[in-house]
Amino acid sequence: MSQAQVEVSEIHWLMDMFQTVDVGLVVLNCDYRIQVWNGFMENHSGLTPRQVRDRYLFDLFSEIDEDWLRRKCDPVVLLKNRAFTIWEQRPYIFKFRNYRPITGSAEYMYQNSTIFPLTDARGQVTHLCFLIYDVTDVAVSRIELESMNGRLKQLSKTDFLTQLFNRGHWEENLIQEFNRLQRYSHQSTLLMCDIDHFKRVNDTYGHSAGDLVIQHIADAVRKNLRATDIAGRYGGEEYAVLLVDTSLDQAAYFAERLRKSVEQMSIEYNGQLLKVTLSLGLAEHNKQMKDHRQWIEASDKALYNSKGNGRNQVTCYQAE
Ligand code: GH3
Ligand code: MG
Ligand code: MG
Repeated sequence: MSQAQVEVSEIHWLMDMFQTVDVGLVVLNCDYRIQVWNGFMENHSGLTPRQVRDRYLFDLFSEIDEDWLRRKCDPVVLLKNRAFTIWEQRPYIFKFRNYRPITGSAEYMYQNSTIFPLTDARGQVTHLCFLIYDVTDVAVSRIELESMNGRLKQLSKTDFLTQLFNRGHWEENLIQEFNRLQRYSHQSTLLMCDIDHFKRVNDTYGHSAGDLVIQHIADAVRKNLRATDIAGRYGGEEYAVLLVDTSLDQAAYFAERLRKSVEQMSIEYNGQLLKVTLSLGLAEHNKQMKDHRQWIEASDKALYNSKGNGRNQVTCYQAE
């Protein structure tokens, strides 16, 4: 083969590679008119090189934010710098549908891109070359991982049966509030409640019925809450609610409303109507309390008094 023939076949190979490489290649002139469009771009856009040739980029792809892309490209032309775009900042430049079976959860192809200058013989920038990388796999797994982490974090705070905070997370909140109360003077009240004669529910109707009752009481607690109140499942059939910025009197009002709503509730289980009542105890924070446990003890003591005095009632803790 002559030297000329070798060079011609090399150009053929280059053209083949350019067409089949799994990266988008686009060349624009400095007026943002498309000059070159490889096979990747054709396959994903459905537009042939002939159809896009000399077309103004922003007319053809109205989804591209013109100001943003021009800001990216200005230094490429003026300073001959490279520019990069990453999916975390902007998911894509070209809005291509994602057809991949594995990463099917993404609607569009996530893209990273590199933009670099093409110069003429005198070293002047005359064109911009875009390399478009499909990073959907990476993006989707990262997004899924982050959402999984979020869900796990949520699960680690939540009681499975009631979806209230679990004891550990609720107690962390209580400690925070306790520390805040030591520094600032405002009132907060702690409510503890326990279902009356709950063993009978389990013994008579079975454990599943008991679970259902625990869920319904949790719903009643939730319904009666304000956005700032912090409710948790403290134990088996015990609930704790931290009533932030609430005096004992105001809390007694809340507790009484909750007591009544539970008293009036009928829970249907296998065609039977179950009824339960709640005993409740309240304790307002006071500065003599050394730690949050003393606060819990105080409201638990009030709860114990409600039990002793006949159940289905609210008792407020009175400091001796
Ligand atoms: P009291 O009025 O004095 O509170 O009577 P009680 O029967 O409710 O007494 P106690 O607090 O001792 O009983 C609680 C029972 O709750 C014991 C336990 O078997 C049951 N329990 C604890 N956790 C669960 C649960 O997740 N599901 C069900 N179904 N029962 C539970
Ligand atoms: Mg009980
Ligand atoms: Mg109990």
